[in-house]
Amino acid sequence: MGTLVMKFGGTSVGSAEAITQAADLVQEYAARWQKMVVVVSAMSGVTDALIRSARAAEMGDDTTYRAIIGDLRSRHHDVVGRLLTQGGERVQLLATVDRLIDELSSFCYSVHILGELTPRALDAISSLGERINARIFAAVLRRRGLRSEAVDATQLIITDDNFQNAAPLMEITRAKVSERLRPLLDDGVIPVVTGFIGATEQGVITTLGRGGSDYTAAILGDCVDAAEVWTWTDVDGVMTADPRLVPDARVIPTLSYSEVSELAYFGAKVLHPKTILPVVQRGIPLWVKNTFNPSCPGTCITGEPEQERGRIKAVTAIKGMSMVTVEGRGMLGVPGIAARTFSAVARQGASVLMISQASSEQSICFVIPTETVSRVVRAIEEEMARELARSDIDRVWSWDDVVIVTAVGAGLRNTPGVAARLFGALGQASINVIAIAQGSSECSISLVVEAKDAAGAVQQIHKEVILNGG
Ligand code: ADP
Ligand code: ASP
Ligand code: MG
Repeated sequence: MGTLVMKFGGTSVGSAEAITQAADLVQEYAARWQKMVVVVSAMSGVTDALIRSARAAEMGDDTTYRAIIGDLRSRHHDVVGRLLTQGGERVQLLATVDRLIDELSSFCYSVHILGELTPRALDAISSLGERINARIFAAVLRRRGLRSEAVDATQLIITDDNFQNAAPLMEITRAKVSERLRPLLDDGVIPVVTGFIGATEQGVITTLGRGGSDYTAAILGDCVDAAEVWTWTDVDGVMTADPRLVPDARVIPTLSYSEVSELAYFGAKVLHPKTILPVVQRGIPLWVKNTFNPSCPGTCITGEPEQERGRIKAVTAIKGMSMVTVEGRGMLGVPGIAARTFSAVARQGASVLMISQASSEQSICFVIPTETVSRVVRAIEEEMARELARSDIDRVWSWDDVVIVTAVGAGLRNTPGVAARLFGALGQASINVIAIAQGSSECSISLVVEAKDAAGAVQQIHKEVILNGG
């Protein structure tokens, strides 16, 4: 049967009851698969709390950071107390939890004294949720008689030093995984690996970006030649829309890698966008399943399908965006304006989520995260100072508080009338579309709407286009 990599998200390991449920699943499938690697996230809310504690310390608010640390200590103690009875490993595990929480305390104290929180320190702090939880989970498996060992991904996933959003160095990672994980797997031990984190070649802790445990599972799946990767979460699979926004959203039984990567990239939090790459390269099937409803088969993400081309399968939204427009009649025919605009954006390290074509050459329009917008507009103004002075460019301006709504389905670009159907649906609800763009792949179309219209736009497209047959 090969090797199965199973990843449990924050809610799936967020309480004693959830951990029990997740451990039941490990036990059940360990009996059926030859080898198994488990990846765990921090308990739900813990990474947020860790980041809040670091920020409070940076701001000089020691009351708040101490209170958060106190809460984290008691939450983890409580869970250990419920899961492990007196005797056994309980005392030892509580001591381990205390040691890691003390580490948090020292980090926050240093940040507090220095009044400075570097991305590197923030990664060290936010890694602690996973480091604690992997140890708890492995102990719970051992208590059930399974052979298991907690492994920090700092020993496995070697990354660059782009703290907060580090990229794995795959060759070294592959070597570390075979050195450290293979002997365990060959020996019938189930490694419980921390999601979300890695380390530089020098051993400094990094993180793979928020929601990065999915990525951990995919990287390990690639490195151990997994037969399948399963991510267990708190919904029945990848759905036609975020169920929190659209209560009648449905599970999508199968999706292609490119469809799900568009969905993830444009805000469907159910999978970290970078997860897709390692599994696609290997052609490893990826399943998204519900820990709390395991009999539901979930969503299977596989290579390229697809019989029903041109059908919209899902809709998603990504908030906190700004649309920047560079406009002026004198831009017409001036070579290099677009290239210079985008180099100015790139120099600010801003990622462009979408570029919209205007009907004429008189404007360039693109969408970036709002937190980068003032820097970006200033950089373009500096770059174009001469054109602005000559009025070849009239102005560089931004429309803040916009949302990108994206419809996803294979083959959309080649299907006539898709944009018309989307516009029609939004028109019925009097929602104004600010801009439109076709995705980089052929399976998405994105619309920009004002933030106040975002939920309405997603619900309307879901109702009128997806439920009516895509
Ligand atoms: P985990 O901690 O298990 O990784 P996340 O909270 O990161 O879980 O992701 C699961 C959540 O993603 C769901 O609870 C759901 O609210 C949200 N979500 C957003 N879009 C979708 C979608 N299209 N399908 C399923 N879930 C979605
Ligand atoms: N715990 C991390 C986060 O909250 C990683 C994850 O949950 O995937 O972002
Ligand atoms: Mg997640």
